[in-house]
Amino acid sequence: MLTYNELIELKKKLANEEVTLEYAKESCWKDFQEGARAWHTNDWKKRRSEVLKDKCEICDSKETLTLQHLSHTLKYNDYEREVTKRYTETFIGSNSIVDKFEFSEHVIKDYDYVPIPLCPNCEDNRPNKRVRKLPQYLCAVCRHEFDKPVYKSVEELIAIFYENEDAIEVRDKCFISKDKWKNKLNLSNIKYWFQRNMAKTKDNETIGKEAFLLYLDDNIKYLSFSDTITACKKCAFSYDIKNMELCPKCKEHYKGIQYATCIQCLPEDRRKAALETIEFGKEMHAIHKKLGID
Ligand SMILES: [Zn+2]
Ligand SMILES: [Zn+2]
Ligand SMILES: [Zn+2]
Repeated sequence: MLTYNELIELKKKLANEEVTLEYAKESCWKDFQEGARAWHTNDWKKRRSEVLKDKCEICDSKETLTLQHLSHTLKYNDYEREVTKRYTETFIGSNSIVDKFEFSEHVIKDYDYVPIPLCPNCEDNRPNKRVRKLPQYLCAVCRHEFDKPVYKSVEELIAIFYENEDAIEVRDKCFISKDKWKNKLNLSNIKYWFQRNMAKTKDNETIGKEAFLLYLDDNIKYLSFSDTITACKKCAFSYDIKNMELCPKCKEHYKGIQYATCIQCLPEDRRKAALETIEFGKEMHAIHKKLGID
């Protein structure tokens, strides 16, 4: 696992094109085994001890201090998805038209079509299928009764779609992807994923690099402890640490975002009550557990 400084170095090299994306990924992930965590490394332990304050930044207690991260990191795939989405939007902006023939081929090749039954009289797509009564179908719109609904062919649907992408006939998600996901899509969805793929193919390397740089940034920030607070065990337990911010009054202690100030900045009587609540939090938890209402 790379140390904090090695990660910074790697990021610089990747940004300056001194190393390839392939190389950067490999050196970052090579001994990134399942269960191997940053806090097992000496580098992490040493820098943690330098950042850990000598008292809780919420209540001033010196008992069992821990370092709590105020934000959490994303996975590489999350970044890749974000960046791909952005590139897709740009791509669609300048390539809004997809070749009809190419699109038809793609739809037929990669999707199973499960046609929607339509009323033969008015073509409404919601005829009621009756269990006991014949004829089997009753159109909810024109009250026509019939045994054989009509269906639109894929070609007809695509022709309508190319006339008007928002046409009511093409809104049903009647295509099922042939891959393992078996996603149900309509033609608009299929077009989006088709264009997304084209954008991804076109800018594959750029997207990967951008996503990986964001991922490295995230990890560097995490390992830098810049977004952490020292909290005693009780405060870490009593507060949702991710919803803490610096008190605007003293700019020294942390407070929950729902409160106006930190505990220390409260008037004497309320301060005492708040500190007791923290003390109380742990006991309440034990009581709740005992009563089975946890
Ligand atoms: Zn505390
Ligand atoms: Zn009808
Ligand atoms: Zn304060």
